[in-house]
Amino acid sequence: MMKTEHWQKAVEEACCYFPGGVNSPVRAFRAVGGNPLFIKSGRGSVIEDLDGNRYIDFVNSWGPLILGHAHPRVVKAIEETARRGTSFGAPTELETALARRVMKAMPSIEKVRFVNSGTEAVMTAVRLARGYTGRTGIIKFAGCYHGHSDALLVQAGSGALTFGRPDSAGVPETLARDTLVLPYNDLETVQSVMKDSGERIACIIVEPVAGNMGVVPPHPGFLKGLRAITERYGALLIFDEVITGFRIGLEGAQGYFNVEPDITCLGKVIGGGLPVGAVAGKARIMHMLAPEGPVYQAGTLSGNPLAMAAGGATLDEIASEGFFEALNTKGQMLACSIRETAVRVGLAVAVQAFGSMLTIFFQPGPVENLEHARRSDLDQFRRFHRYLLEQGIYWPPSQFEAAFLSSAHTDEDLRKAVGAISNAFERILYRT
Ligand code: PMP
Repeated sequence: MMKTEHWQKAVEEACCYFPGGVNSPVRAFRAVGGNPLFIKSGRGSVIEDLDGNRYIDFVNSWGPLILGHAHPRVVKAIEETARRGTSFGAPTELETALARRVMKAMPSIEKVRFVNSGTEAVMTAVRLARGYTGRTGIIKFAGCYHGHSDALLVQAGSGALTFGRPDSAGVPETLARDTLVLPYNDLETVQSVMKDSGERIACIIVEPVAGNMGVVPPHPGFLKGLRAITERYGALLIFDEVITGFRIGLEGAQGYFNVEPDITCLGKVIGGGLPVGAVAGKARIMHMLAPEGPVYQAGTLSGNPLAMAAGGATLDEIASEGFFEALNTKGQMLACSIRETAVRVGLAVAVQAFGSMLTIFFQPGPVENLEHARRSDLDQFRRFHRYLLEQGIYWPPSQFEAAFLSSAHTDEDLRKAVGAISNAFERILYRT
């Protein structure tokens, strides 16, 4: 791929202005080496960088763009809304309309509060759980990422894992102490911890399909087990569906696995590419939020009209007949083709996919928890990523992230991607 002085200058300037040259760590490409692309535009499944190089995009802004870039319906909704004013700090009917769509899809949700990011949604969910139960302890799972609020930045996956720093400096030990971190997919450990400490646990929070240590689906019965245990000990069950909500299907993971959480955190797809999060759940719990209850939460731009409009247009589009069938079939086909390619080439990888989320772990697998994920060959991944970029494929720049498909990916896009992946596998194996 051609790199010009323009790009070089963009990188250097950004490094003057931003720590690491970026406004979110994984974007810096540290795990794969080199400097990040600077993106000029995106349309459908393709993004174009500053130098005019085009790439088929499997990052999709880390999940929100389930319809691909600049989908006409979403762009129209944003344009029309912007003409009437971008923010009022007062209620609009757009918020109600988006909440109605969310509640229709997820019956466990009886009340919603919109916020501006997934981090905010989860931070509020934990405060709510603590306020509701009067307890302080929380249980999370190693490798699950729930945003960067203090209590949850303990053995988090995603960027934190990518940089080999599961815990962040600046999080007081006193806060981290209330967060118990257990292995994903290990119900027995949860049971024994709850037996000892159940009465001080406010909530168990889980990514129902983990996406932040790479894609790791739950074992059969894991989520149902968590539901039963939390009920037994009077703790709340929080599903962090920031990735899975409106991604694996309209009803999210809770519909797919038929397990009702008390609180659901949403983000990504519900904002259609604009900044939105939501904390949502049972009315008896949500009533604890200000102004009705004593748990405080607020936001100047919460429920922002542009974001509500983009989210509304996106949810309307994905609610159309057969949308998820088609998208998830594409995901399955891509996963199968990559597995076949790996077998043909003779490279041991574990392709783990769920719906339209997919990770290629550079190890034989299966990967069922963080400890397994860590066994991946990160040098192979780094080379894989570089080879794909050279062939016009933009893959997430970390082993511990999910690649995302959108409805804009064509069969031709997938064929090109599989061809490029096949070449990359061969080059990894033969070190060419
Ligand atoms: N929860 C999960 C499951 C996520 O994947 C993410 C972000 N990748 C977050 C929470 C945090 O969301 P945001 O980046 O919008 O703050």
